[in-house]
Amino acid sequence: MSNIIQTTTQLAMYITSGYIEEGDILVDATCGNGYDTLNLAKKCPAKLYAFDIMDQAILNTRQLLMANGYQSRLDDGSIQLICDSHENIDFYINQPVKAFTFNLGYLPGGNKNIATSNSSTVIAVKKALNLLDTNGLICITMYSGHDEGKDEKETLLNISASLDSKKYHAAYINMINQKNNPPEILLITKKR
Ligand code: SAM
Repeated sequence: MSNIIQTTTQLAMYITSGYIEEGDILVDATCGNGYDTLNLAKKCPAKLYAFDIMDQAILNTRQLLMANGYQSRLDDGSIQLICDSHENIDFYINQPVKAFTFNLGYLPGGNKNIATSNSSTVIAVKKALNLLDTNGLICITMYSGHDEGKDEKETLLNISASLDSKKYHAAYINMINQKNNPPEILLITKKR
């Protein structure tokens, strides 16, 4: 892969890929237009869950997957698109998850008022920590260019910094020479 630090989303997916093997259980907690879901689907998971609160996002993700040959995996339920908040993740999943991707904020090209929020994101990430498999990864792309995003980032950094270092590794990546609050990445892995 060339220049993996060119975009944050590319870097986030590159890092996530290093944690995934064929047959894993994966979660896209904010499927949006479906690009992250599609990238996760390409890793041949046993089961891939994709959440979003917007009907439009679920529709966009379904269309992108179908256009890329994943109709049968949608039909057999091994890729499940769920129109619900990720704070309800534990209603749908009760098995260890190898990788979660959270790409926070609002639907690109959609309604900017419907964005992830501090309270529900924190609930979702705490539930993800409980569901995370050993050697699994939670990868969160954060956008601090708007007030809610700034709060989300600060809260998530505080939570991550206070995680038990015997159980988790937490790391924070930012693009230090970019203007206008570029996206940042928070990574949490669960130790053996
Ligand atoms: N991963 C997406 C992609 O590849 O296109 C981009 C995600 S976009 C930046 C953020 C998404 O989070 C939006 O589609 C928004 O509707 C969704 N969202 C906001 N609050 C949510 C919640 N509580 N649960 C699940 N999704 C949520």
